[in-house]
Order: sequence, then C-alpha cells, then structure tokens
Amino acid sequence: MPGNPNEIKLVNNAMANATRRKIMNFLEKGETSTEEIGGEIGKTMLDFHLKVLQQASLIELGEGTAKLSEYGRNFLKGKADKGEEKNADISKAKPVEIAEIRQLLPCIANSSKFRVIANMAPPLGGTLKVLEPLFPRGRYSDRINALIMQKGEIITTIYGTGKVTMTMIKNEGEAGEALENLRNTINEAIAKGVVPAPREKVRVEPMEIYKYLPQTNCGKCSEQSCYTFAIKLMSGEVSLDKCTPLKEPGYVTNFEHLQVLSAYI
Ligand code: SF4
Repeated sequence: MPGNPNEIKLVNNAMANATRRKIMNFLEKGETSTEEIGGEIGKTMLDFHLKVLQQASLIELGEGTAKLSEYGRNFLKGKADKGEEKNADISKAKPVEIAEIRQLLPCIANSSKFRVIANMAPPLGGTLKVLEPLFPRGRYSDRINALIMQKGEIITTIYGTGKVTMTMIKNEGEAGEALENLRNTINEAIAKGVVPAPREKVRVEPMEIYKYLPQTNCGKCSEQSCYTFAIKLMSGEVSLDKCTPLKEPGYVTNFEHLQVLSAYI
C-alpha cells in the first residue's frame, strides 16, 4: 500500500489524468476485461494508462483483465466520502453582473498595460470556490477568499466580496471584453445549476516560472541562478519569499504571476 512520498507521488500522478480517473471509476463495478474497458473509455494508450495505475498500486492486472486493488477501492471510497469528483450544485446562486470599471491604472511593471478594478454583483461569496473548474487556469484561495485565474498574461482575481481585479490589460476595450466573457462563463454555469467536477491539475514547467523571475542571477536566494531557483521552487525546496528582489516595486506584476503559478505546483 502506498505510504512513502515517492509512492504517494505515483498515486497523485496516476489520478491526475482524466482517462485514468474514468478507468478507476469504471472498475468500481468489479473485475473487467481490458476489451470492455477499451470499449467504454477508449483504446488510445489504454495499456499505458493501465500500467500507470498498476504501478501506483491502484489496480491489479490479470490475463486481459483489470480490477481495483484493495488500496484502489479504499482510495475511491475516501474520495467519495470527501465528496470529490462530483459536479457542484450552484442552482441557488443568482446571475451576476459585472458593474462599471472603477479604475484603469497603469501596471507598475509595464506602463503600457493597465490594472483594472471592477465590481461583481451580487457577490459570489463561498460559491466562488466551486466555480474553480470553470476556468482552465483557475485556483481558489481560502486564505483570501478569492478565485484567481490566468489567461495568457492577464491575471484575474474575483474576491468573495465582489471586487474583481485584472492585471496586464491592454486597454479599456480589452478590459470590457474580458469582463463580459467572465460574466457569461459564470452565468452560463449558474443557468445550468452545476459546474464540472474538479479537473486535472494544471502542469507548470520550470521555464514558465523562470520567465517571471528577475533573471539577474543575483544569488540573494542562495541559489546559483534564477533557473536553479525555479527548479527548486517546483520541487518545493524553496519558497517564493526567498527571492527578495521580487518585493521591489518593478516586479509587482511578476510576483503576482508567480504567486498564481505557485498555486499550480
Ligand atoms: S534572488 Fe531571485 S533574482 Fe536573485 S538569483 Fe535568486 S531567483 Fe534570481
């Protein structure tokens, strides 16, 4: 049964993939032929997915068959008890309007771009948390009760209070369009009454982290280079706070981007 960090990593990696999650759920009914699994889930890379699940001790493979291991059964049961993998009911939420852009201020890091503050009404409060899967790069933060999303360079933060901020916006037109898209995405989900189940984790590469670091190799974080820092940040060996230059006013937006990216690690 997985217990040490490497084994737990294998399980997390196995379950980070939607196809493998489907296979696990399909096997809940009992031992099944791989032919039947392929017919239901799809044959593309089926052998690979089964091998990954087997290596994580989640399933056992026989002669052309597969079944959940005891650990796999308990794993799924634990998820069901926690209410994971289910669509969230938001039928009681009311459609939102995103009111006027209250401020369009130059971004500190890039004066050709703007920072926008708008207001969403009614505020979504605790419903924000279940909206996270609607956005490909969305992350809900309990600490600040806010949903943070990244699309290209633009980072949007919706707070439970209704405040909405966006960084790295080109102009008022782009701000209006981005806010309109946001409103439509949320209202479509509210009209349906549900949002999708939590999705696969977004994968962040060291190069993406590196892109937003100062790239001066100053050594203040005690690492040889910014790229080494990026790799260590990915593996959890250092925290973002160790790069003190990021606290300087010129790196405000970079710091915001890195905070969002760190949430995906
Ligand atoms: S402190 Fe920041 S800028 Fe300096 S080397 Fe480390 S990561 Fe790079």
